[in-house]
Amino acid sequence: MPTYHHPAEDLPILAEVDVLIIGGGPAGVAAGFAAARLGAHTMIVEQHNCLGGVATAGGHGHICLYSSWGNPGWGSDELVVGGIAQEIAERVAAAGWGVFDRRNADFEVEGLKLVLERMAGECGARLRLRYHTFFSRTLVEDGRAIGAVLQSKSGRQVVLARRIVDCSGDGDAAASAGCPWEQGNAEGGCQPVTLMFQLGGVDMARVEEARRERGNDYKWAQTWKKAQEAGDMRRFQSVVMGWWWTPTRPDQLGINFTHVTGVDTTDADQLTAATCEARRQVEETIAVYRKYVPGMERCHLLSTPPTIGCRESRRILADLVLTKEDLMAERAWEDAIGYGSFFIDIHNTKGIGMDARTVHPRHGFKYQIPWRIQVPRGIDNLLTAGRCVSVTHEALGSLRVMPQCMVLGQAAGTACALSLAAGCTPRVLPVAQLQASLRAQDCILDAGDIARANRSPAPTATPQPRIPRAG
Ligand SMILES: Cc1cc2nc3c(=O)[nH]c(=O)nc-3n(C[C@H](O)[C@H](O)[C@H](O)COP(=O)(O)OP(=O)(O)OC[C@H]3O[C@@H](n4cnc5c(N)ncnc54)[C@H](O)[C@@H]3O)c2cc1C
Repeated sequence: MPTYHHPAEDLPILAEVDVLIIGGGPAGVAAGFAAARLGAHTMIVEQHNCLGGVATAGGHGHICLYSSWGNPGWGSDELVVGGIAQEIAERVAAAGWGVFDRRNADFEVEGLKLVLERMAGECGARLRLRYHTFFSRTLVEDGRAIGAVLQSKSGRQVVLARRIVDCSGDGDAAASAGCPWEQGNAEGGCQPVTLMFQLGGVDMARVEEARRERGNDYKWAQTWKKAQEAGDMRRFQSVVMGWWWTPTRPDQLGINFTHVTGVDTTDADQLTAATCEARRQVEETIAVYRKYVPGMERCHLLSTPPTIGCRESRRILADLVLTKEDLMAERAWEDAIGYGSFFIDIHNTKGIGMDARTVHPRHGFKYQIPWRIQVPRGIDNLLTAGRCVSVTHEALGSLRVMPQCMVLGQAAGTACALSLAAGCTPRVLPVAQLQASLRAQDCILDAGDIARANRSPAPTATPQPRIPRAG
């Protein structure tokens, strides 16, 4: 690409904060709440007009998995995620916006937005939200991150920060700081992107009845095959990835179905083209649902969300890279900061359906998450949380889900606050101190914590339609 020399300019300093969080998704809110609750002056920078990331701006009103894995995949009775992730799900359900059964949270997206802003407000002046603002560049001095350049309607501004947590999903801040990263599988292929959409006018009882008549095929695979053979639908998808339903809006469904492959989500042109293609798929899908799915004859499109959902992009490398083998062996880590439990969920990077490397583990599967995957190589005072942490392509298939992104966020926010108080970098913060603080925040780190968290009986789950399980 040709270049244009932009003259150096003096930028106004918008703020000086203790902790700057780039991105207000699941990782970012947990990082921001944790840091602010521990007394750090914190700012969350978010390009959209809400907190929640994929769960709100991405229109995905379903968060899983809070429990260890259960066969055939709906979660077990054993809660393995606590802390802020659990608190958010409980508050959304308590406010009447959805349900939480200690495995999954299903909710109305607008409700989650409100709950997250209420929680942010409870942090008072210690937490500042900055919406409509795009992170542009990380400022680095002597191997330390010292702030960021932001772009918004207010122009280009700088925020100076003593700690930065990259919760952008794409690792924007860490990559800008020069941290090493990888992307995709061995051929560079990333998981497909999906534009969610919300349907109204669904007769869920009839849909359920029809599904039972079709041999409990939760993915409705035969139906799409028939539609494709009849020329009613292109072959962009072969299975339902998720029909998300909550009893608070019984005639609505959130649809995880569109699939666009071969997209580098760090490229704005590719994101634009993928969004337009996915929206065409939405239109096509609705016509097919009306024609082929009993109970959906009168369904109508309520909305597509402001942003397309990205499953995978940069993974910022740390000294430790968590692998699929670590996960499948349920390897124990001395620096554990929480648990993951989702299956190795890899959507086909080149075509329809799932990748052959998808693995459904044993009943009760869970693995510890080591702290070191959040401390990037080659820079101090910058941490990662969420789906851009140091894992392999396969391990990300499991760790990318939202409870785990919140676990990672809470650990990063806590480490920022503790390291500031201790006057050391997060890298050398004694991990025992981090773990003690996380336990004091009701996080679940090891078998003892699991036993404590599961002493109280699980609440009776609200009956829900059985749903396909893929993220
Ligand atoms: C279609 C789909 C289905 C999924 N299904 C499930 C599921 O069933 N259950 C589940 O738990 N998880 C699911 N996941 C995975 C999960 O939603 C994501 O992996 C998770 O949201 C990642 O969290 P995050 O905080 O790292 O990133 P995100 O949720 O992507 O949040 C990142 C935030 O940073 C902001 N941001 C990014 N770059 C910038 C920038 N430069 N400047 C300012 N702001 C920026 C974004 O706007 C966003 O709000 C799914 C994901 C997708 C895409």
